[in-house]
Amino acid sequence: MTGGTGGIGTAICRRLALTGHRVATNYRNEEKARAWQEKLRADGIEVALAAGDVSSDADAEAMVREVERQLGPVDILVNNAGITRDTTFHKMTSQQWREVITTNLDSCFNVTRPVIEGMRARKWGRIIQIASINGQKGQYGQANYAAAKAGMHGFTISLAQENAKFGITVNTVSPGYIGTDMVMAVPEDVRAKIVAQIPTGRLGEPDEIAYAVAFFIPDEAGWITGANLSANGGQYMGW
Ligand code: NDP
Repeated sequence: MTGGTGGIGTAICRRLALTGHRVATNYRNEEKARAWQEKLRADGIEVALAAGDVSSDADAEAMVREVERQLGPVDILVNNAGITRDTTFHKMTSQQWREVITTNLDSCFNVTRPVIEGMRARKWGRIIQIASINGQKGQYGQANYAAAKAGMHGFTISLAQENAKFGITVNTVSPGYIGTDMVMAVPEDVRAKIVAQIPTGRLGEPDEIAYAVAFFIPDEAGWITGANLSANGGQYMGW
């Protein structure tokens, strides 16, 4: 999976490892990633690491080959790495636009492309994109992020159609606001306003997203493809 060292990513790595999967993720800062790996190891959880910036197709391909070298073929891919560069569109620079599109959306092409042929040959695969509630409903100050996240679902439903006959399901999880660094970095007064809009009256937990991801993996979920699973405390109930 990508972005495994982050708030949601760590929960996904933990849950998948605890349910018997061999898990790998990428890193950009080796020292930080090794410290993270040791922390999980202390809890009895093993996650393999491979260097790679997912916004680069060459890096992504090398990362996938390294994971295959360490663990064997990739049967499950979770495209989770993501960033925000928030500002209203009339102030947005092309760099803020590009960084968000390449990290959140181009990364789906970059990482999925080197794994898809193997999945098709083996006639089994699971590809899960972590999008966002804000790709479903839009968000003030996030034209770049909302475009990237909505694009991830467009990617999901096309890939789902192309690969259904090969035993590969492709789905999206669209989280609402989860209490990770990304959201805790938002000023407290803004966060309080966000929580007030969530029917459950609280932020989500990273493991609640990990649970949604794990739902798509078993053979029993083989009929579910091209779906978008909203996990947002009831904040948005559209597609
Ligand atoms: P974090 O910021 O905690 O983690 C992001 C992860 O992505 C980190 O591991 C980071 O690695 C990695 N990453 C970022 N850019 C790159 C890159 N170019 N190449 C490789 N890895 C990269 O975010 P969250 O855990 O909160 O979010 C995970 C996903 O969930 C994101 O896609 C986010 O958009 C989405 N999401 C989050 C929500 C929330 O409320 N938190 C709500 C809805 C969606 P590094 O340590 O190297 O930076």
